[in-house]
Amino acid sequence: MKDRFNRNIDYLRISIIDRCNLRCIYCMPEEGIKNLLPHDEILSYEEILKIIEIGVILGITRIRITGGEPLLRKNVVHFIEKLSNIEGIKDIGMTTNGVLLKKFAKDLFMAGLKRVNISLDSLDEQKFKTITRVGNLKDVLEGIEEAYRVGLEPVKINVVVMRGINDDEVERFALWSKDVPYQIRFIEFMPVGVNSWKKELFISTEEIKKKIEAKTGKLIPVEMKKSGPAEYFTLEGSTGLLGFISPLTTHICIRCNRLRLTAEGKLRPCLFSDKEIDLKTLLRGGASEEEIKDVIKSTIQLKPQGMLEDVKPSRPMSTIGG
Ligand code: SAM
Ligand code: SF4
Repeated sequence: MKDRFNRNIDYLRISIIDRCNLRCIYCMPEEGIKNLLPHDEILSYEEILKIIEIGVILGITRIRITGGEPLLRKNVVHFIEKLSNIEGIKDIGMTTNGVLLKKFAKDLFMAGLKRVNISLDSLDEQKFKTITRVGNLKDVLEGIEEAYRVGLEPVKINVVVMRGINDDEVERFALWSKDVPYQIRFIEFMPVGVNSWKKELFISTEEIKKKIEAKTGKLIPVEMKKSGPAEYFTLEGSTGLLGFISPLTTHICIRCNRLRLTAEGKLRPCLFSDKEIDLKTLLRGGASEEEIKDVIKSTIQLKPQGMLEDVKPSRPMSTIGG
């Protein structure tokens, strides 16, 4: 379905849980999220599947499962299996921190998951611990290898780059792409949710590219059919690809094709706006399929043309799903 700016909205990102087993400094406060949702406030799998089925009628064909940490939710494999049986869904991806991926990758693939995006902000064990506060790098690296081994392709690695924290590693990540068959994507640090964002920590894609090129030589552009918000490059003789996602310095909103559903059932037309439509209350209040459809349609029409100036969504990213 088209929105007011002629963008085709065919992609739904669904946060299935607000809890997480890491505490990334840019996403969560150290003590975790206050006011975690009681279990009965989180959409049940049946409710999520119902919303997806209605979304499919409106043209949703691609789903991304996220969180919090989606692999912490019970019976997630069974949920993916049910989801993959919905006619009209062409692509199911997941964004995960990878900590539990070694254990789940094969079953997820067998259940119908197509691919994974894995967050990995440092290749240095100590720094990885500092950024995630509690994580072990080894678990994530093993999860990444297993995901690739079982066929969850393309494996995409998401690196949120922060000045003075991990910007000294962008060259190392770039060189890693020479040896590994992954798409390593550098993401500009966004002012979302927790108060960790500071201008001094922000580093633009342009600067990251310059740092990489100074070390590795020219980045060679790669045309991708469906690249979403990322632009892709490779290095001479590389196995993998390098991607750049620049929400703050380019106009990625022009190509925005997505809606977001939070774990508590709020439908969000835009990551950068605090507008939310409460689907859970409607569903639990016995709204008809037609009524839910109308609400999804009108939410699509609420999508703004672009990121609004100076808007910092008040929800933590872990409860929106990225
Ligand atoms: N826990 C999973 C993970 O970390 O991949 C899924 C949820 S997490 C909120 C989704 C994505 O959002 C991750 O790739 C994370 O790096 C990204 N993210 C969180 N806060 C961000 C911020 N302030 N700026 C840019 N990306 C952010
Ligand atoms: Fe958890 Fe993902 Fe947020 Fe890190 S980025 S705290 S792994 S939800």
